Amino acid sequence: MKIVVQDMRWQIFLIMKLSRNFTLQELIKSDTAIRLNIDNNPNGDQIDKLKQLCENVLQPVRDQFGRVKVTSGFRSPELCKAIGSSENSQHAKAEAADIEVIGVDNAELADWIYRTCEPDQLILEFYTPGEPNSGWVHVSWVPYNPRRQYMRAYREDKRIKYKPIIGKAVDLV
Ligand SMILES: [Zn+2]
Repeated sequence: MKIVVQDMRWQIFLIMKLSRNFTLQELIKSDTAIRLNIDNNPNGDQIDKLKQLCENVLQPVRDQFGRVKVTSGFRSPELCKAIGSSENSQHAKAEAADIEVIGVDNAELADWIYRTCEPDQLILEFYTPGEPNSGWVHVSWVPYNPRRQYMRAYREDKRIKYKPIIGKAVDLV
C-alpha cells in the first residue's frame, strides 16, 4: 500500500505543470537516464528555474509556433557524465533546454527567440542553411543580467566550433 502511495506521488510530481503547456516530465525526461538507471530528478530550486525557463521562453514559443519538442532539458551531474556533457553546462543548472518545433525552420525559431524572449544564451546547433530541419536550438534563460549571446555551433575538422550570429540566422549561407 505504501508503494502505491509513493507511486501516485511520483506520477503527480511528473505531471506537475511548469507553465500552461509544459510538465516537469518533459523537462527532465532522458532516454539515457532511463536506460542507465540514472537519477535525473531536480531539487526544488532547480524546479523553480525550469519553471522560469518555461514561462519566459518555452511557453511563448509554444504560443507562437505550436507544439515544442524538448529533446533535452535538465541534466543531473551523473547524466552529464554519462553523455559527455559538461557538469558546468546550463542544462545541469536547470537553466537550459534543447528544443525543436516540427515544421519550423530552426534558424527562424532561433531568430524569433532572440528577438522576443531575452535569452541568456542562444545557440543554433549544427544547423545547415537551406535545411530547415537540421540541428536544433539550445536556449538558456536567467532572471538577472542575461548575456544575450547568440551563436551557432558547427563541426570543423571533427571539432565543435562556435561563432557569433550577427544579424539574423535566416540570412546565414
Ligand atoms: Zn543544450
